[in-house]
Amino acid sequence: MKLKKNQIFFLLFLIAGTIYVALTNNDSNGGKQSKETRKFTEKIFGTIMNVTYTCPEDLHDTIMICLQGVDASLSMFNPNSTISRINRNETDTLDQHLLNILPMALSISEDTDGAFDISVAPLVNAWGFGFKSQNLPTDAQVDSLRALVDYKSICIENGLIKKQIPNMIIDLSAIAKGYGTDQVANLLLERGVKDFLVEIGGEIVCRGNNPKGEAWHVGINTPVEQSSAFENEVHKIIDIHDRAMATSGNYRNYYIDENGRKLSHTIDPKTGYPVRHSLLSSTVLAPSCAMADAYATSFMVMGLDKAKEIVMRNNNLQAYFIYTENDSTGNFQTWNNLDLAQ
Ligand code: ADP
Ligand code: MG
Repeated sequence: MKLKKNQIFFLLFLIAGTIYVALTNNDSNGGKQSKETRKFTEKIFGTIMNVTYTCPEDLHDTIMICLQGVDASLSMFNPNSTISRINRNETDTLDQHLLNILPMALSISEDTDGAFDISVAPLVNAWGFGFKSQNLPTDAQVDSLRALVDYKSICIENGLIKKQIPNMIIDLSAIAKGYGTDQVANLLLERGVKDFLVEIGGEIVCRGNNPKGEAWHVGINTPVEQSSAFENEVHKIIDIHDRAMATSGNYRNYYIDENGRKLSHTIDPKTGYPVRHSLLSSTVLAPSCAMADAYATSFMVMGLDKAKEIVMRNNNLQAYFIYTENDSTGNFQTWNNLDLAQ
């Protein structure tokens, strides 16, 4: 939930026939329900949100108020948020958003054998992401910071959070964008909206059909670096029906250190080091966007083989992975268990 300098929302969503027209919006049309497709773009959580929905009522302000509530709970970059106050040990009382998100985050940590860990922040910061530190950490510093990282030391009891390691910092960045996307989707569903697509920084929830009455078509980007001529090139377009989708990739959010090492913002909590392997991009479809977001990050941590295992044993998950066998060839390979119309 921060303004990431080099983050462009790397997953374009392509809406077939991107023409947003008021279909019928006339009170004198024989009592027919008026129907209007609306679209807006806003900045939120340090990234860009796009919402397209069919509804007679303009829900822009209601959606923004809903997301400000999420930010006030989950943002590490808002010093007054509940999570910031918990991190400073000023409170242990959880609000509703945290009561929703924390059990899910902890169960994904269990399912991924700790690849996903919301207590990884001290390492994220040490490696120059999050709240930046000046120098990269030494091996000894990485080792000592790892002592602060252990999701098993977090437990939730009667609406309170207990941290067995008092200096532990909880960072929900890898799940909060997806959760915020779910919150907007839930709001639209509560208002009776049947056709919508909500996208926050590449994390997507859609329901029903696009304005042309078709499935929503969304693009998975080619995992190329920002300076490349193929930046934002779409690798694959897929149709999604009533699902959430999130993509994690280490080809955008990284920097090169003075030794020429490429340091990604995804940290392996077990080693304490930024991950580095053949998986370039992990797109996950799941019933909720929070879940898709967290698993997409976890898969970048664990790499292709373990990620495939988890997808295959979890009926709720589908994935599209882009990887390279050998960095020097630059050829992409893909693996997926989506029901793709070829
Ligand atoms: P991506 O789109 O690449 O998944 P996200 O913003 O969703 O990016 O998640 C990356 C952020 O998650 C990092 O900036 C860091 O704050 C946090 N993070 C890094 N490694 C982990 C991890 N192993 N488990 C949970 N959160 C992590
Ligand atoms: Mg993520």
